[in-house]
Amino acid sequence: VTTSRIPVLIVGAGPVGLSMALLLARFEIPSVLVERDAARSRHPKARGIRTRTMELFRQWGLAEELRPRAQAAEALRFIYCDSLAGEEIGRSPELQPPPDTITPAETYRLPQEVVEDALLRRVLAEPAVVVRRGVELVGLEQDSSGVAATLQDGDAVETVRASYLVGADGVASTARANLGIELTGTPVLAYWQSVYWRADLGDLTADRPCIQFLTGARTGAFVGVAWNRDDRWVTIVQRPGAAERPEPLSAEEASALVRRAVGRPDLELEVLDSKTFRIGAEVAERYRRGRVFLAGDAAHSMPPTGGFGMNTGIQDAHNLAWKLAFVLRGTADDELLGSYDEERRPVAQANVDWSVSNAARMRELREAIADDDADRLAAALQDQMNHVGALGQDLGFRYASGALLEDGSELTSLDPVAYEPTAAPGARAPHLWTERSGQRISTLDLFDSSYVLLTPGGGREWASAARRLSEKTAIPLEAYVVGAGGDLVADDEVFSELYDLAESGAVLVRPDGHVAWRSHGVPNDPAGALLDALARLHIVPGALVA
Ligand SMILES: Cc1cc2nc3c(=O)[nH]c(=O)nc-3n(C[C@H](O)[C@H](O)[C@H](O)COP(=O)(O)OP(=O)(O)OC[C@H]3O[C@@H](n4cnc5c(N)ncnc54)[C@H](O)[C@@H]3O)c2cc1C
Repeated sequence: VTTSRIPVLIVGAGPVGLSMALLLARFEIPSVLVERDAARSRHPKARGIRTRTMELFRQWGLAEELRPRAQAAEALRFIYCDSLAGEEIGRSPELQPPPDTITPAETYRLPQEVVEDALLRRVLAEPAVVVRRGVELVGLEQDSSGVAATLQDGDAVETVRASYLVGADGVASTARANLGIELTGTPVLAYWQSVYWRADLGDLTADRPCIQFLTGARTGAFVGVAWNRDDRWVTIVQRPGAAERPEPLSAEEASALVRRAVGRPDLELEVLDSKTFRIGAEVAERYRRGRVFLAGDAAHSMPPTGGFGMNTGIQDAHNLAWKLAFVLRGTADDELLGSYDEERRPVAQANVDWSVSNAARMRELREAIADDDADRLAAALQDQMNHVGALGQDLGFRYASGALLEDGSELTSLDPVAYEPTAAPGARAPHLWTERSGQRISTLDLFDSSYVLLTPGGGREWASAARRLSEKTAIPLEAYVVGAGGDLVADDEVFSELYDLAESGAVLVRPDGHVAWRSHGVPNDPAGALLDALARLHIVPGALVA
């Protein structure tokens, strides 16, 4: 038994644990990342990387590296056919990526393994992270000063002491079980039998890029065929809510299934792997107990229809990392950590509900095809735009409460499809291209490690008060005047309108890019007003007077 002390122990090196380690390293917070599996699982899972996640990848310097591995932009559609070689029945309309007035990021479709490889490379290059493979969390205890985690490394068992533990250990989370946290929702919606295989399908697919070929709608033998990378494909059959978990298909069954879906009885293929996934719709009753937090699939699971599972998890890490960093540095108090559950759980529930509703869209399409109803089919194909696009669900979610101060603006219900930019407290602060010292930057580029105050030309008093505060205190705070003659050159009206700010108003944005506070005018004592807001945002008094 050995004992050591680390700031954050992260359990699970999936996309969420890796993102957590990378984010903490960006704040120079050391972490240890333990992963049970000695080798990495390569069975394909996610391919839909949503726009908000791409904004984060762009900020972390991953977008350039990922671009060459992405599927063509016109692949954002489904193709319905009897088989790949058989008759094509219909296509959902091609989705246009969001314009660069909405986001500075490009949206890619990428295999999860490519994303994980890129994240892992970055994490391994960070001196602040220690990665330990083949090490399993088997138990944990905690007291008011830290967490004692029991780790199994081969035959050796050791206890590691950490200030905080993040359980990013997937759907069967050991961390969650140890905390006694229950899940609410539906544990089994379906089982998906997935076959990973390779074959040359160039002649059938080269000029038909898509998210998935959905075959067999007329015969009832529904099988999805999706490209993963190179000449590698994945075939998925859904077994509805069966009580029994079906066994993965044997190599012979898998080959027969693939050949039927491709429509070539003599197709030469190599079956690489066969797996059964339980598809559920569940959210943990709480995301935190004491010093232990759940993130990613450990905290929520949702059907892949909609492509939100991994994306929601990476964004959990983004929400939690700066809070942990601020508390570990002594800049913020423990209540900031309480806002993680308050903010992220409702987002997971909304994404679960949305993903479940998309399964109904897929069903409607299959039924329209089976009934040979052309009008119904056209409407159902058009409706898939909502499934695939869902920019409102992706960028428009707004925290109703948490580490933010309401400004009286109405909390409207989320439109999952259309994204309406807003700088109301809790929302993702909108993107706007501006120019700083002759360089084009997005407002999103500023939201990284500090609080950021933005104000239009008439709010210079806000900006100077914020700068004085950041010089005199230990608060990480930056301030920019945005407008024709400002630190960030932009059209005054466009900025004021986008952020809904009066000429002398100001907005305070958190390091995760969500709005914390907004003022519609300037008071007599702007520094006092800012200090008061920061205190209510859980910045510790020591940091305020340092
Ligand atoms: C077929 C399919 C398609 C999908 N498509 C999409 C999509 O298009 N878009 C999307 O966003 N999401 C999609 N998802 C969901 C996505 O794959 C998951 O949400 C994502 O993998 C969750 O990441 P995670 O890091 O939370 O968990 P995981 O990826 O499950 O990683 C958890 C890690 O923890 C390790 N671990 C577990 N227990 C322990 C322990 N006790 N000690 C140490 N290590 C441990 C595991 O070995 C694993 O490596 C899809 C899922 C499936 C099955």
